[in-house]
Amino acid sequence: MSPAGSTEAVSVRVPGKINLQLAVGPERDDGYHELSTVFHAVSVYDRVTVQPAERWSVHVTGPYAHRVPTDDSNLAVVAARTLARRRPRGTKVDPVRIDIDKRIPVAGGMAGGSADAAATLVACRELWALDHVENGLLEEIAAGLGSDVPFMLHGGTAIGSGRGERITPILARGELHWVLWAGEGLGLSTPEVYAECDRLREVARTPVPDPAPSGELLTALRRMDADAVGAVLRNDLQDAAVSLRPVLAEVLDAGLDLGARAGVVSGSGPTVAFLVGSQAEAIDLSVGLAANGPMGDIVRAVGPVPGAQLVQHVRPTQPPPPPTRPGPLGPVTG
Ligand code: ATP
Repeated sequence: MSPAGSTEAVSVRVPGKINLQLAVGPERDDGYHELSTVFHAVSVYDRVTVQPAERWSVHVTGPYAHRVPTDDSNLAVVAARTLARRRPRGTKVDPVRIDIDKRIPVAGGMAGGSADAAATLVACRELWALDHVENGLLEEIAAGLGSDVPFMLHGGTAIGSGRGERITPILARGELHWVLWAGEGLGLSTPEVYAECDRLREVARTPVPDPAPSGELLTALRRMDADAVGAVLRNDLQDAAVSLRPVLAEVLDAGLDLGARAGVVSGSGPTVAFLVGSQAEAIDLSVGLAANGPMGDIVRAVGPVPGAQLVQHVRPTQPPPPPTRPGPLGPVTG
């Protein structure tokens, strides 16, 4: 990257998400499932930096970099190009170089790709000075990029309906403490997990009700009470994720044995989110899981946190003003 100050650059920080509830309805005609979900943004962050360049490109660093594409399929590139295409008439934009510091586990059910897409939209709007691109248009573009992208613009805790792209924020005070377990190399593809969910439902012949937000969860969230929230965490995709990656059952058992108030697979998995009552409990559980649980990355986090947020706008350094010539009495001092 160019040294800060010589080139304009905009950095945006964006969190990952977990799902406190994921109710999956029947498959729709368009192949998607009707969903009702409660998203919760947690303090595990990617950082996306954009700067003007001659060509579009993306570069990824961080512990999960090797699992992220660096071609045009990267969702951050797709997001930047889409915003460029949809920009208001009469505005000009340059291609950008995108740098992603990747800390959100990849293909883990934490919407890391969607998070990078949301961060790139916010960063490019700032870099290209598209102030008149209103939040409404940004959200519309986000929804076109993927079901989770609109939530990653908002963050916090929110109900997602439709494919998950229609967002209703939940206002709640307080915070929840989490320990996240992410198994390296276990990545699950979202379509694979939905297909397994449909298969298990067909075998069990269970009726599939229309998905709706859980009233108990919404009440528990108003107080941010860990035990009350823990009692009603639910993910309809969990059985499918466990069926495809049986080690997840061991992870869930280990976390509960080690004192977690509750545990749930996040989204389509395989990240497992354990809810604890305090930071001290989070430290105990993460140490216990590292020593005794199945092998995986263990991260402590809190939620809710805001969505994609501008953290830095480096403007090109202005050339220094010419030195003023000292007057006949020499420079003024003191
Ligand atoms: P979701 O739950 O939204 O389906 P996920 O959280 O399970 O997604 P992601 O981390 O978003 O998974 O990655 C899904 C796939 O998307 C990866 O296997 C990767 O190849 C691809 N991908 C494209 N762009 C990115 C990106 N910027 N960051 C991470 N993955 C990306």
